[in-house]
Amino acid sequence: MNIKDTVNQQIKKWVEGESIHNPVTDECTPDYSCCKPNLQAEKSVRMRYAKAWEEKDNGTVDKMLEMFLAEAINDFCKTNFPENLELGEIAFVELTAQEALNKKDLH
Ligand SMILES: [Zn+2]
Repeated sequence: MNIKDTVNQQIKKWVEGESIHNPVTDECTPDYSCCKPNLQAEKSVRMRYAKAWEEKDNGTVDKMLEMFLAEAINDFCKTNFPENLELGEIAFVELTAQEALNKKDLH
């Protein structure tokens, strides 16, 4: 199975509700729910992502990955620094998510 197939398989299972960390690419599901189950996106959101992925709608895929990443970072901050998380920091977290995305090699 080539890499692309393993990603397609991972997305298919993820839409069905089974979040599996991709052992070939060592990548999380788009919403990171394989490693952080509480981050699992709604089924309608997962279906929307899968549709964009299938249609190679990279604009939507990137936007959604950005959204999932922001959620993950917000969750991390809420868990680790709950006393410091105020509005200003949330804006900072979103900025950080954007910067991280810019550096991330999206395919
Ligand atoms: Zn994972």
